[in-house]
Amino acid sequence: MAAAVTSKRPHVLAVPLPAQGHVKPLMSLCRHIAKHGIKVTFVNAQSIHDKLVSASPQDDSDSNIVMTTVPDGLTPEDDPNNPFTLFETLPKSMPQTLKDLIERINSSDPNERVTCVLADLSFSWIFDVAEKTGAEPVGFSPPSAACLAMLFHNFKLFEQGDLDSNGSVKNGDVISLSDDIPSWRKDELSWSGHVHGDSKAGKLFFELVQGYKDATKAKWWLCNTCYELEPAAAELLPNAFPIGPLNLLNSNNSTSTNFYSEDSSCLSWLDTKPFGTVVYVSFGSSAFFSQQQLDELALGLELSGRPFLWVVRPDLAIGSPIVYPDGFLERVSGVGKIVEWAPQNRVLSHPSTACFLSHCGWNSTMEGTSSGVPFLCWSYFSDQYHNERYICDVWENGLKIEVDEEGTRSRHEIKKKINMVFSDNKFKENAVKLKELCGKSIGEGGSSYKNLEKFIGHLRR
Ligand code: UDP
Repeated sequence: MAAAVTSKRPHVLAVPLPAQGHVKPLMSLCRHIAKHGIKVTFVNAQSIHDKLVSASPQDDSDSNIVMTTVPDGLTPEDDPNNPFTLFETLPKSMPQTLKDLIERINSSDPNERVTCVLADLSFSWIFDVAEKTGAEPVGFSPPSAACLAMLFHNFKLFEQGDLDSNGSVKNGDVISLSDDIPSWRKDELSWSGHVHGDSKAGKLFFELVQGYKDATKAKWWLCNTCYELEPAAAELLPNAFPIGPLNLLNSNNSTSTNFYSEDSSCLSWLDTKPFGTVVYVSFGSSAFFSQQQLDELALGLELSGRPFLWVVRPDLAIGSPIVYPDGFLERVSGVGKIVEWAPQNRVLSHPSTACFLSHCGWNSTMEGTSSGVPFLCWSYFSDQYHNERYICDVWENGLKIEVDEEGTRSRHEIKKKINMVFSDNKFKENAVKLKELCGKSIGEGGSSYKNLEKFIGHLRR
């Protein structure tokens, strides 16, 4: 009697940083890996998993990917409503809970042992867990290659005494990595500045950056960028494999990755608008507005006289319900559409969308750039300042909305820059060239395509 044939299958266990802009691109990558017959288990902290489930339509599940959880690791002192709490609790609890999870998986089916742990590079302490369980550590990096290079450079600055233990720059005003990469002002480092009026946040971000210390334990750093967009930065990172823009891998399939429920009524609204006329306005998942700034934006959009689609998350105004200027909603009805969360990739590739007023999170930057849409930049914190520099100074596919002396973006400035992006063809022409460049990179034979093929071949070896 012939013996039963059993075959071992590669198994990737993916762990994102618990934030919208990290979960989404990692899931895009995982869907692509799973399409190649590789088993994928995607691990979220429990509260992140709950958000994804409650924001997803009921029939939404991807049978190629196993979704699972580890506990949030909260103690009674931790604030479960602070979006940054998990950045502090998971590094304490997860080394054990993740190890237990991997051991359970490995003992339940020896043919599907976890062979690779694909973890966000800012949680590179996870690579120790990978090594203890016999899996290969692989890093995933959602921000730009330049930002990643800067994160590593911080260790050098610290050693040289140019940074203090809070991450503040002690010597000099500008940090530069190369003549071909825009430099950083000292208050624009990804860990600097106050976030949401919270002075502890800068320190917390600097601590998160220290999580990159073990990154070199992984030979592969899969980056959501493409070589052609950032050649100088990619060259600075020996382990980096640019494999993006990841949104081009499965742009219409973004379910199970949203922290908020998508309102797709904006797509049929866009259908009613003429070609290339709509200003799409979105600030990602974590920017917050003062009431005064919210008013100025609303009035600036109104003053522009152009159709707009504006994503107003229910938590967009700091600590208060959303209030619009008097009579605003009545005056703009028919011209403007407001949703709480949009299917962003589909909006950006819709023919009616003319430009993207964005906070310049790296995912949004990649999504708008690879869709050929010019930007109006409104950076808010972290790596967004540097992403804005790429757009305004290097790629020239957008314009910056400047703040006035009081630190506000005024309605007049907003109107002026919207008009400028519509009236100067240069922005659209550059945007179209960049779209082609991104498409070629991820398309068959392109540099990102080849890196992805190489990685998938490596997983299967
Ligand atoms: N996003 C979305 N719908 C929205 C707003 C944002 O799907 O209405 C997605 C967007 O496509 C991107 C992610 O949320 O993939 C936000 O990531 P990004 O890096 O741009 O900003 P962050 O939220 O990290 O600040």
